Amino acid sequence: MPAPQCASCHTARAALRRPRSGQALCGACFCAAFEAEVLHTVLAGRLLPPGAVVAVGASGGKDSTVLAHVLRELAPRLGISLHLVAVDEGIGGYRDAALAAVRRQAARWDLPLTVVAYADLFGGWTMDAVARSTAGSGRSRACCTFCGVLRRRALEEGARLVGATHVVTGHNADDMAETVLMNFLRGDAGRLARGGGLGSPGEGGALPRCRPLQLASQKEVVLYAHFRRLDYFSEECVYAPEAFRGHARDLLKMLEAARPSAVLDLVHSAERLALAPRRPARALCQACALLDGLNRGRPRLAIGKGRRGLDEEGPPREPQPSRPPTSEPVPDF
Ligand code: SF4
Repeated sequence: MPAPQCASCHTARAALRRPRSGQALCGACFCAAFEAEVLHTVLAGRLLPPGAVVAVGASGGKDSTVLAHVLRELAPRLGISLHLVAVDEGIGGYRDAALAAVRRQAARWDLPLTVVAYADLFGGWTMDAVARSTAGSGRSRACCTFCGVLRRRALEEGARLVGATHVVTGHNADDMAETVLMNFLRGDAGRLARGGGLGSPGEGGALPRCRPLQLASQKEVVLYAHFRRLDYFSEECVYAPEAFRGHARDLLKMLEAARPSAVLDLVHSAERLALAPRRPARALCQACALLDGLNRGRPRLAIGKGRRGLDEEGPPREPQPSRPPTSEPVPDF
């Protein structure tokens, strides 16, 4: 049976059905739609203002390759400039080949590239050295946890080095859904609440970060790389099989088989999560050192001469500001 016509241009034969919508499109119309959706994500979220110098976290893998390519296409419309920043974690047999892919991309797309290495930033420590030192300690499975923290810091350092105002990473919807699942499984409420949205505005002096591919599925990222004939590195890191993320990925695949919208549902659920505001710290009563809230709405305790009792005269006190009337119940403990 011949392929149906492209539902967008109505001239070429369709080359794929979009996984999310089922729409039959030719390769050119799919790539145009994908780029338009990333543009919409950036503009609607006000992620990259005109004039921004954007450090693209480049790993040589499909996600960062697609991100760099799409942003390079969109850069004139967005009014931004790009700088690739790659991190060398010091992983023998893996990172060298991935960095070679990043160098080819930088040369082909005429983009500046800066490589920052763990060994230079962290006193000679590489990921291989971290893995050796944790081997047999029961913590070797946590390589990715160490690496994630170090890589975030290294990318920030690299971005500052090149004078970037913003950092972008290639996380796609599947990555984000896996992260949400992992945080649920760990019971990490703080990360769950912080992980929503398309990025962070740059708290604590850090550069603003965002994930323009966060609403794009992994399948579509791969399809875009295929139709644009992008050259990327597709081997897995040697430490990845031990990572907890692999279990979340398997679970996500099962969920998606039963409910195709599971990936985006998880991404959006994280956006709606927020931590309840912390209760304000309760003041200690200056006289009895009990929590002030205990006495609220009750007869006031005062310190007498030699004994403590109700309505006794106590020693002269500093004048205290009057407490505003409140109908708040006495807090429970
Ligand atoms: Fe680092 Fe883990 Fe990624 Fe390897 S798989 S680069 S150790 S985070």
